[in-house]
Amino acid sequence: MAAGNGAPKDKKAPKFLGKTFIDNEVCKGCGFCIEFCPTTCLEFSSVFNRKGYHYPVMARGPDCNGCDLCGLYCPDFAIFGVRWRNPAYPEAGKDSGAAARAKEK
Ligand code: SF4
Ligand code: SF4
Repeated sequence: MAAGNGAPKDKKAPKFLGKTFIDNEVCKGCGFCIEFCPTTCLEFSSVFNRKGYHYPVMARGPDCNGCDLCGLYCPDFAIFGVRWRNPAYPEAGKDSGAAARAKEK
C-alpha cells in the first residue's frame, strides 16, 4: 500500500534519518569516526587516499542517523553527518499541529 496522507506510520521507523559527508583526501586514517560511531555504519576503505591512509566509507548507509559524532571526533574536519526527521516515524507531524488545525476548519 502506498504511503500517503492518513497512512499509518511505521512503528519500527527510526526517529531520524541521516547522511554522512567524507573528504577522503583530508582524512589521515585515525579511525576515531569509525570507533565512535554509535551505529557502527562506517568502515575503513580498502584503498588509500593520496596521503597513503585508509579513509572511512559508509558501509551501512541506512543505519546512519546523522548524529554527527563522527564529525565531533574527527581532528581534521574530514567528516560530518547531517540528520532530518523521518516522516515515517509515528510522532512525526504531531508537533506541527498542521493536521489538527486542518480538522478544526
Ligand atoms: S552521523 Fe552518526 S551515525 Fe552517521 S556515520 Fe556519523 S557517527 Fe555514525
Ligand atoms: S576521524 Fe577524521 S581523520 Fe580520523 S579516520 Fe575519521 S575522517 Fe579520517
